This record gives sequence, C-alpha cells and structure tokens, in this order.
Amino acid sequence: MSAILSNSTLTAPDTYIGIYNELSKYNVHLNVFERLWASWYAYMGNDVLATGIMSFVMHEVVYFGRSLPWIIMDQIPWFNRYKIQNTKIPTAAEQWACTRLVLLSHLTVELPQIWLFHPMAKACGMETGVPFPAWTTMCLHIAVFFVLEDTWHYWMHRAMHWGPLYKNIHKIHHQYSAPFGLAAEYASPIETMVLGAGSVGIPIVWCLITGDLHILTMYLWIVARLFQAIDAHSGYEFPWSLHHFLPFWAGAEHHDVHHERFIGNYASSFRWWDYVMDTESGPEAAKKRRERKEAKEGKKIQ
Ligand SMILES: [Zn+2]
Ligand SMILES: [Zn+2]
Repeated sequence: MSAILSNSTLTAPDTYIGIYNELSKYNVHLNVFERLWASWYAYMGNDVLATGIMSFVMHEVVYFGRSLPWIIMDQIPWFNRYKIQNTKIPTAAEQWACTRLVLLSHLTVELPQIWLFHPMAKACGMETGVPFPAWTTMCLHIAVFFVLEDTWHYWMHRAMHWGPLYKNIHKIHHQYSAPFGLAAEYASPIETMVLGAGSVGIPIVWCLITGDLHILTMYLWIVARLFQAIDAHSGYEFPWSLHHFLPFWAGAEHHDVHHERFIGNYASSFRWWDYVMDTESGPEAAKKRRERKEAKEGKKIQ
C-alpha cells in the first residue's frame, strides 16, 4: 500500500489528514472513498492491523447501530401495532443481559477470527488495494453470497435442531421465544463459528476458485448480512417490509415464527429452501400440510 505514496515528498506526513492530502495530490484518478481507504492503510503502515481494526470497528458499529432503532421502538407503545408477538416486549434487563453476552462473544470468539482475517484473505488472493471494483461486480458477488450462505444456513441450522446438537449448542439462541434485534448473535460460540463459516468461508472459497474478490465487497456483504440477521430478529412486521415486494425474501415474519414455535423456517435470507423441503412453519403452513395429507388419504379410500 505504501507504493501509492512513493512519489510524494521526502518527508512523509504523519497524520491521517496529512497523508490523505498528500496522496490526493498524486492520485487524482481515485475517488474520495478510495483515497480515504488508501490513506488508512498508509497511515497504519501495517495491513494486518489496518484490516483488523477496520473490521472489528465496522462490525460493532453496524451491529449495535442497527439494533438501536429496534431498542427505541420497543420503548414506544405506538409501534406495538407492528410487533409480531406484541405481548412479549423485551425488558431493559433482558436487553442488557443479551448485550453483555453478545459483547463477550464479540471480544472472545470473533475478535481473534477478525484478526486472522487479513492474512487469510491475502493467502487466498483477495484484493485489498485501490481502485475498487465496479459496483456491478460487487453487487453480483454479494447476491451470490446471499444465495450460498442461505443454503449453508438452512442445512446447518436444521441440523442444530437435532436433539443432542440442540441441547448442547443451539438452545442458547432460542432463549428468547420473541426475538429482538440485539438477539441476532446471542448464541453459543460453537454456533457462532459454524454459522459464521457460511458468512466468511463462502466468500473465501469463492475467491480461491475465481480469484476475483475485493475485501471491500467482503465488508459490504458482511454489513448486508448483519442488517438481514438483525432485522430478521427485530420482531417487527410492517406493510412496507421487504418480503411484500420480494416474496422469496424471509425477513422478520419468517424468523419470528421459528423462535415462537422452535420448528420449521430454518433458512436465513430466503424462503425457497423451507418451501422445497416442506419445513415451513406457522399455522398457515400447518393447514396446507393437513389439507395435503387429507387429500392423499381421501384418494386412498376411494
Ligand atoms: Zn433455531
Ligand atoms: Zn434466530
């Protein structure tokens, strides 16, 4: 990353703003975000540290930042009309207990993994420099990751509902039968690693196979996936929720039933796996299943 500053003045600036100004003089072809990005790596002078700090801070800011509007909404009675299980509003004590465990998990389980991410990304040929890839390429990669992660999540999550795995691992995540945003990552460290392997491992395998992935795409994907997970746990269903426009999008309506009934609706982002594998949850799905069974039995009698 230092090569980008190599044709600058002999006395290199030592503040972040100074580096940014210097770098901007000689790299007019880069946009503001690319300059900020390149300056950060030049300022840190250590790529592992630069990626590690950026990843950890991004994860914390997005996780708690995205959970905050849901915490506020839970305190305003007017929003209760949109709450799916509207008799179960999380108390402040519950939210705090949840925050404590999530933070502990971030610091003990996720931090070391985030730290190892840069060397791992480099080893599989992930691009970290500037200029950034075209936004169309980034969107395509993110769409592929959404579809693949959803598949991984469906099968791993379904497996975790098998007796011994449920009792020893997944039960923690099901502590809240009426979920709320903060509870998205409330889980056993083993679950965090297994399901996290879908979010982080899939892009890494993709990069190994295609040799085409930028770490920024990876960041945007993780941000999108965090939004998806937190919103799915929010417990709120609105007339403008995404699944009304994209019928195959899962959303809160889909995952809330999973927490309420402990069975069915195992996928993360989309509805197709549960539909195809006949594991849809909720009274409507149960009714359809009953009707199908009755029709089958009726045929047998005739
Ligand atoms: Zn579950
Ligand atoms: Zn959940």
